[in-house]
Amino acid sequence: MIKKPKILVVGSSNMDMVIQTGHFPKPGETIIGGEFSLIPGGKGANQAVAAARLGGDVSFVSQIGKDVFGDSSLENFIKEGIDISYVRQNPEQSTGVALITVDESGENTIIVAPGANHHISKEDIGRAEKVFAEAKVILVQLEIPMEIVKACLSLAKKLGKNAILNPAPAADLGGEILEGLFLITPNETEAEQLTGISILDEASARTAATALISKGVENVIITLGASGAYCHSKDFQGILPTQKVKAVDSTAAGDTFNGALAVALGNKHSMEEAVRFALKAATLSVQKMGAQSSIPYLKDL
Ligand code: ADP
Repeated sequence: MIKKPKILVVGSSNMDMVIQTGHFPKPGETIIGGEFSLIPGGKGANQAVAAARLGGDVSFVSQIGKDVFGDSSLENFIKEGIDISYVRQNPEQSTGVALITVDESGENTIIVAPGANHHISKEDIGRAEKVFAEAKVILVQLEIPMEIVKACLSLAKKLGKNAILNPAPAADLGGEILEGLFLITPNETEAEQLTGISILDEASARTAATALISKGVENVIITLGASGAYCHSKDFQGILPTQKVKAVDSTAAGDTFNGALAVALGNKHSMEEAVRFALKAATLSVQKMGAQSSIPYLKDL
């Protein structure tokens, strides 16, 4: 059997509570909505699930509450074959929750209570040092405190590991995060937030990627939704297109892309090959509803 690459994901875990509604309630108004669904989410958890389904040997570092959502998240990670030795249940915090309403036109409102996600500590990272040392690829996003993101990236650097930062949701990053970073994977909005350059075409994507590289990042991939992704590595610069499909829901498309990318790079594929693999996986995910429910398995590719 081929040995799976060790992937370490550090990040958020949420429970998404979704109610379909004919219209949104006004302040003070109570309305009767439609169907309710409870869906595991959070960018960290989604990316860990994607990497596990797509062939990674995944360890997840995260913090959840010691509550009913925390228990069911743990069960879910175990079912996905994810190593949960470093997922801590904090008895003083609630599991992260997103309250989502979706109307008939597909418009949504979302309130996130980050709960335990905002309490991941440097001690949690310190405890996981062994898996940092074992990992082929380390994957981090921005739904946890910035000082923890920094701690992860600096530990990865110290250990000489390839770290991927998916800078989502969009935020300003200090120079020290970018200096010496192996790979950053913004979408168009996040790339604009980071560089001030609107991503309109290949030329502007190249200018934004070059700006990030001048700040010390080694490789840049800008995901472009239905247009694929712009890849900027030593060996390849340009847009890699994706298949034209009927998209029904793009939730977790970026997360699927990042999880897939980590696995392909862990399998020592070139950046170009890894992006092609990630595009295939992400483009499959937009053809299904939901977050983790839409993430494909290796056999689907
Ligand atoms: P995010 O979900 O983080 O905003 P993008 O919208 O750039 O990121 O999507 C990430 C990836 O998902 C794309 O690179 C592409 O592979 C796939 N994708 C997203 N939207 C579509 C679409 N409408 N058709 C085909 N693939 C899509």
